[in-house]
Amino acid sequence: MVCPHLDYRDSDGEQAFDHERPYCEIQAAFVSPMEADLCRDRHDFHHETHCAVYQRHHAADQLVPGLNLEDGD
Ligand code: SF4
Repeated sequence: MVCPHLDYRDSDGEQAFDHERPYCEIQAAFVSPMEADLCRDRHDFHHETHCAVYQRHHAADQLVPGLNLEDGD
């Protein structure tokens, strides 16, 4: 299963790319093709157990249900 936070973008808002690049919505950053293998659960990776970014994001959800740490208010 592909990580639900993985996206593919063909620009960074200012510069257009020749092809789409993998983008992590949690980090708000592009990830390397090697990292994207993890995001896509290739080569025996599983994003839920092997990605620290995913684990931190979802652990925060479990500490205080309903708390959104990305909300700047
Ligand atoms: S880096 Fe982690 S959280 Fe981000 S898209 Fe990849 S697997 Fe998901």
